[in-house]
Order: sequence, then C-alpha cells, then structure tokens
Amino acid sequence: MKRIGVLTSGGDAPGMNAAIRSIVRCALHEKLEVVGVLRGYDGLINEEIRTMDHASVSNIINRGGTILKTARSAEFMTREGRKRAMDVIRKNKIDGLVLIGGDGTYRGGIALTEEFEIPCIGVPCTIDNDLNGTEATIGSDTAVNTALEAIDKIRDTATSMERIFVVEVMGRESGFIAMQVAVGGGAEDVLIPERKFDVEEMCHDIVEGNIRGKISWIIIVAEGAAKGEAIARQITDFTSLETRVVVLGHVQRGGSPTAQDRILAARLGAEAVGLLLKGESGKAVGVVSDEINIVDFEFAVRKKILETDKIYNLMKILT
Ligand code: ATP
Repeated sequence: MKRIGVLTSGGDAPGMNAAIRSIVRCALHEKLEVVGVLRGYDGLINEEIRTMDHASVSNIINRGGTILKTARSAEFMTREGRKRAMDVIRKNKIDGLVLIGGDGTYRGGIALTEEFEIPCIGVPCTIDNDLNGTEATIGSDTAVNTALEAIDKIRDTATSMERIFVVEVMGRESGFIAMQVAVGGGAEDVLIPERKFDVEEMCHDIVEGNIRGKISWIIIVAEGAAKGEAIARQITDFTSLETRVVVLGHVQRGGSPTAQDRILAARLGAEAVGLLLKGESGKAVGVVSDEINIVDFEFAVRKKILETDKIYNLMKILT
C-alpha cells in the first residue's frame, strides 16, 4: 500500500475535519501518500482529487463541516457510476480508501468492494448515531450538545411565558438525539420512532399537570417519529393550552466538535489507516466500552436497536 484516498460522504457532521486530519497525519506518519477526494463519491467519479500534506489539515480540528465537502451521489448508486469511480481510482494509483460517513456511505463501500479490488475502511461519522458496532458515531455528541443548548434557551421562555414547547430534533430514523436531549434537558416527554407513543395520553397528563398548577412543558419529537407541527396542533386541540413549535433543523449539524467527538475522530482515523496497512477491507471502525471495535460493513449498516425503556422511565420519574 503506497497511496490512500480519503473522502467524506452523505450528511456532514461535526468532527469530519478532525477525522480527515487524523487519517492524513497518521498515513503520512506511516510514509503513505494521501489524496483527498472532494464531494464524496461524486468527486471520485469526476476526479476531484487533491494531494494532502501535513499542512493541508492544519487548523481544522476545531472546525465543523468538512474541508473535503460532502455530497449525496445518485450516479454512484449505479454500476456504471461505480465503474467510472474505479477507473479514476486506478488512474490515480489509489491503493485503498477511507470512507467517512453514515450507513449510506458504508453501503457505497459494500458495492465498491464487491465489484472491484479496492480495499475500503469506514469511519462512522453521522449525527444520527445509527450505526451498529459502535456506541458513538463522530458528530453525535456535538449534535446532542447543540440541541441541548437550544433547549435550555427554550426552557427560559417556556417557563416565563407559561407555554408548551414542542421541539423537533434531527436523527432520521433514529431517536438517539431526541432521547439524549430529553433526559439531558429535563423534558416532560419524548416521542421517538423506537417507542410506541400515545399523544392523547400525553395530553391527559398535560391537562392533569395544569390542574395541579404546572405551567410549562417541553416535549421533544424525533423527526423520524412525527412532525413537531402536527403534534403541537394535537396538543392545542386537546388541551386548549398555547403550544409553540421549534424545529431545530440544520443548526444541529454545524459547529465546533466537542472534545468527545474530536478524540473519537483521532482514534478512529488512526485505526482506519492501521487496518488498510494490515490489508483489511470492508470493515468499519468503532468504539464499544471505550475499546476499539471492528465490524464488517454489512453488520454496521443493520438497523441499530436503541434500548430506551430504562432511560425513558427514568426521564418520566425525573419530570
Ligand atoms: P447520513 O446518514 O449522516 O446522512 P449517509 O452516509 O448515510 O450519512 P447517504 O446520503 O445515505 O448518507 O449516503 C451517501 C452516499 O452513499 C449516497 O449519496 C450514495 O452515493 C452512496 N450510497 C448509498 N447507498 C448506496 C448503495 N446501496 N450503493 C451504492 N452507493 C450507495
């Protein structure tokens, strides 16, 4: 292995830059050449490739987003697109790839390694924390903290104005961010795709609480469970109490990564380079109980089971 490529793909997440930095500098330390591929798989197809040196990743450890840009590539979903990508890989003498992204990015890696002889290693980087084989994905801790900061501010106005706030958070099909911020932010309830929920029952609780003198509520809704707007309407219709909606949206993707995400990015980036050097392929790196854990791409992309009973019950006790 002489020359490796690195790309970021799918939705951007805080810590992608820290991961790029780790991969580039660990590879250079091992006397490998490194190229950065711009705009994910689209950049491979269109040969948007640039040489990375030590200085090319200076001063990015603290920056959100990705200096390599990211994209969702429809062309790479086709065999013809992947063939074009492979031609570019061969032309540029790339011996192995590190793919930074989420489950879609890993599925791209599966397709590429099944069809062609190119070693690929995945680094989990998505705010959704929905990959198997790792307790945390790079970016998820920052996204939780960003959402929490916003919820703290919403709490100030919720208590002052005596209102119900429904806060919709990101996470695609995963309720991870929602559950974390509900517990961390002291929310009254949380609606996530992993748990059956009964909005009417929640409304009964609100009415009862209101009779007891409770004046404000924060209800977290995961985007994969319901639309915040629809839940707020149901609450107002049922309780006649004023309900406001906040959709946190893309602010959760941005910002400087937390210490946890930077350290995870440093560790997992190093591990990915090490695996390529060992001749491995089709694997994803991760951490379990703070130890490095390596799984096949196929396992990593299987639906992650989020255990929520205990933590949900605790959240309800604490409200
Ligand atoms: P996030 O979940 O954070 O948005 P992601 O990596 O899951 O990140 P996706 O948009 O799902 O983001 O996937 C990124 C890209 O991976 C897609 O745009 C596509 O080019 C490629 N990809 C996804 N699935 C496949 C597949 N089955 N075969 C080939 N390529 C794929």
